[in-house]
Amino acid sequence: MNVLVLGSGGREHALAWAIAKSPRLDSLFVAPGNGGTATIAKNVPLDMNDADAVIGFARSENIDLVVIGPEAPLVAGVADAIRAAGIAVFGPGAQGARLEGSKSFSKEFMLAHGLPTARYKKCTSQDEAMDYLHEVGAPIVVKADGLAAGKGVVVAEDMEEAEEAVRDCFAGDFGEAGSVVVIEEMLEGPECSMLAFLSEGKALAMPCAQDHKRAFDGDLGPNTGVYSPVPCVTSELEAAMQEIMQNAAAATAKEFDDAYTGVLYGGFMLTAEGPKLLEFNARFGDPETQVIMPRLESDALEAFYMVATGKLDALDLRWTDQVAVCVVLASDGYPGSYEKGKVILGIEEAEELDGVTVFHAGTAFNQDDELVTNGGRVLNVVALADTFEDARELAYEACDKINFEGKQYRHDIALRALEA
Ligand code: AMP
Repeated sequence: MNVLVLGSGGREHALAWAIAKSPRLDSLFVAPGNGGTATIAKNVPLDMNDADAVIGFARSENIDLVVIGPEAPLVAGVADAIRAAGIAVFGPGAQGARLEGSKSFSKEFMLAHGLPTARYKKCTSQDEAMDYLHEVGAPIVVKADGLAAGKGVVVAEDMEEAEEAVRDCFAGDFGEAGSVVVIEEMLEGPECSMLAFLSEGKALAMPCAQDHKRAFDGDLGPNTGVYSPVPCVTSELEAAMQEIMQNAAAATAKEFDDAYTGVLYGGFMLTAEGPKLLEFNARFGDPETQVIMPRLESDALEAFYMVATGKLDALDLRWTDQVAVCVVLASDGYPGSYEKGKVILGIEEAEELDGVTVFHAGTAFNQDDELVTNGGRVLNVVALADTFEDARELAYEACDKINFEGKQYRHDIALRALEA
């Protein structure tokens, strides 16, 4: 089979890496890809949001399956166009992608189908939002409705912070994404992600993963590490989340013309009342994919193709019992401004360690064909081992072997998993 993956991050490297292991693969392309995907596939300089360009390329290379990584092309309807062109595609149409593209749409969907989530109000003006804030009080969560590159959510501890968040949204800080605001009850508990394959109204859940929200030790700053499974998730909790994902899948068959094909990401808060949905994403999570793909023992290409062609029922996925820990190596200054073009050394040595895989998130090759940094999040260092202690030790040993100017990373990834 000939496969085209759309995207350029660590998630796409992990998807391409998993696909590349399949004996059914003939050729693999990634558009636009990164320095890591270049080593296992052919990178192609396509605009992934341009459906005609993607279809043109797919026809010229006899592509059998297109796997869409990021949300932007999904929201833009690229999957619909590819499907209409008669090419198998892993990724929901624009209707289904609204579950990620609009928080208010997503909340209405959850409410209409009895999926547990925080109480909320959709506000279309600043006055309406302020009135509601004063009615319910802080702590409270303020969310820009549309896609805001992960930045449109403020968990406000007090009214001042909440009011500022509302003003920022309506002042246009998130562009169109902030012209509608969702204000919702603050939920408490550990967070956990459950991703599920969806096709024709059915769901097949993957193992849970838990990310670290922030870059610096002690959960301050942006998110930079993830692990799977999640020890605080009991089998009862997992079953409850699976049921919610199953119900969500059934709801997609009622709501959307072609149901939902691809992966639905459920972001959960494990509250005292049980798991509640914080959000849906319409695609694989980044960096969750980087710990989930290494745990998949089954043929990933076959799995994606079966999902894309409506054969989810026949899919029986095997996952390793080994645990996975992923540490993100970032550029100095990230998440603020940072320099690019720093030469990266030591990846091969890191990967010589048994159980270590390094996915590239922001890398490229320079004119001298050296691998260099090309983003804030540079590399995802993943270690598989029998225990979280061993996986952590291995991941950090691998991190030590890799060098580039300005390398920074957290030292507490998956410590929480040891405490559970
Ligand atoms: P979202 O993009 O909606 O998942 O929000 C991003 C992050 O904000 C989540 O991963 C949570 O850490 C936090 N968050 C969102 N909604 C809530 C809520 N209702 N209660 C508490 N924290 C929340």
